[in-house]
Amino acid sequence: MKKHVSYQETAALLTTGETTCVQLVEACLSVINRLKEVNAFREVWPEEALARAKEIDQKIQAGSCGKLAGMVIGVKDNLCYKGHAVGASSKILEGFTSIYNATVIDRLLAEDAILIGRLNCDEFAMGSSNENSAYGTVKNPLDTSRVPGGSSGGSTAAVAAGMCHAALGSDTGGSIRQPSSFCGTVGLKPTYGRISRYGLIAYASSFDQIGPITNSVYDAALLLEVMAGSDHFDSTASSKEVPSYTHQLKVNKKVKIALLKECVYHEGIDPEIKKQTLDLVTKLKADGHTVEEVDFPLLEYLIPTYYVLTTAEASSNLARFAGVHYGHRSSESHDVETTYTLSRSEGFGKEVKRRIMLGTFVLSSGYYDAYYTRGLKVRRLIQEATQKILSNYNFILSPTTPTTAFKFGEKGTDPVAMYLEDIFTVQANLSGNPAISLPLGKHSNGMPFGIQLTGKNFEESELLAFSQTLVS
Ligand code: GLN
Repeated sequence: MKKHVSYQETAALLTTGETTCVQLVEACLSVINRLKEVNAFREVWPEEALARAKEIDQKIQAGSCGKLAGMVIGVKDNLCYKGHAVGASSKILEGFTSIYNATVIDRLLAEDAILIGRLNCDEFAMGSSNENSAYGTVKNPLDTSRVPGGSSGGSTAAVAAGMCHAALGSDTGGSIRQPSSFCGTVGLKPTYGRISRYGLIAYASSFDQIGPITNSVYDAALLLEVMAGSDHFDSTASSKEVPSYTHQLKVNKKVKIALLKECVYHEGIDPEIKKQTLDLVTKLKADGHTVEEVDFPLLEYLIPTYYVLTTAEASSNLARFAGVHYGHRSSESHDVETTYTLSRSEGFGKEVKRRIMLGTFVLSSGYYDAYYTRGLKVRRLIQEATQKILSNYNFILSPTTPTTAFKFGEKGTDPVAMYLEDIFTVQANLSGNPAISLPLGKHSNGMPFGIQLTGKNFEESELLAFSQTLVS
C-alpha cells in the first residue's frame, strides 16, 4: 500500500471504498513488524487498533465519522492514555499505567483517530538523538547507522517509515523539529499555550508544547485544528479561538522574511545545508517575497539560557518520582530516605540525573540569583528581541539543524556537543513562538534536512499557509 502522505488522499480512498480503516491499520502493522530493528515503538496495540478500525469503518459507511476517521496515529511515550502504560522511556516509571487521558488524546479519539501504539523517546524527553532512552536507541529508518534525532525520535522514525500516518511529539527545545529535520518529516511546535499540556509528563513546563509530526503540511494543520484550544485542566492553554487551519492553507501572499545572520553563517553549519538554505532564499526572492538578513546577537545565549531554565524546571517537575506514589521503588529501600535516594538512583538514567543536579544547583540558595534569576532576565531579552523581529517580518527563516542526522556515538561523551544540536530550535521555545520544520533539502550523504520557519504568536494559520507554498 502507498505510504500515507496526506489525509485528504486517504479520506478520499475511504469514502469511495477503495480502502478501509482495517486495511490501513494492517498496512501500518506490517511496516512495524518489518522494521522492528528501528525500535520506534515501545508498545504496539494491534488488537485494539483493529477493533477500532472496524468500528470506524462502520461509521464511515453510515456517514457519521469524525474529521480524523482512519488516521493511524502513534503517541510519544510521555502522553497519558487511560488504561495504557506510559513511561517517558524511563525505568523509573516501569509498570505505571495512565489513569486518565491527556486532553490531546481525548480530542483525537473524539474525531475517530486510531491510536496504534506508544513511541520510544529520550528519557523524559531529554536528548537530541534518542540515545537516552532506557529502552534502546531508535534508528533512523533512512539509514540505520544514524540517529533519528530526539527526543521525539520514535515518533519521527515511525512517520517517516510509514508505521503510522502521523504521530504526536512534544517539543521543549526542538524535540519535534530536530528529529523531523533528521527524518524528513513535517514537525510543528505550536505557540506556547495553543495546545493543552494536560496529560503530558512534564519536563520543563514553561517550554513544553505538544505538536504533530506528519508527512504533509495539510496533516499538521488538521491535527492542530483538532488538538488546539482552551482546556479547564490547563490554565496555560489559551482560550483564543481556534481557526480552521486546513481551510486557510490556500492563502498565498507575498511575505517578508528575516534571515538570522548568526544562524546561516554559523561556523558549525554544514556547508551543503548553508548553500541550500541560501539557494532557497534566492528562489523566494525571485518569487516576489522579501528576505532580509537580520542581526541576532543573542544567539550565543540561547543554549545556556535554555539549559539553566529547563534543568531548573526539570529538577522541580521530576521531584515527584520518588518511589512513593508511582513507578519504581528500590527493593533495597528500608526508610523514607533510602526510598527516595535508591529509587531515584536506580530509576533515572545518566542524562536525567545530570539535568536534575544542574537544575538543583541553579535553584540552590546562593546560586539562584546568579543563574536562575539571570536566566529569566536573559529569556525576557530573547523574547523581546524575537518579537521585535516578528513585528517587522512575517517569519524568521533558518536551517532547523546545523547538520544532518549523525551516526550513533558520533557526539561522543561530551554533552555540550549534543546540546549544540538545538542551537536553532530553542529560540522558539524560549520565546514561545510557533515554529515548523519542513523537509526541503537532501544532502549528498543521502540524508534529508529541514528548513525552519518561526511565526508570530498564535498565527499558525499564516505559518502553515506559507509552509504549504514552500513544499508544494
Ligand atoms: N534536545 C533538547 C534537549 O535535550 C530538546 C528536548 C526537547 O525538546 N524535549 O533538551
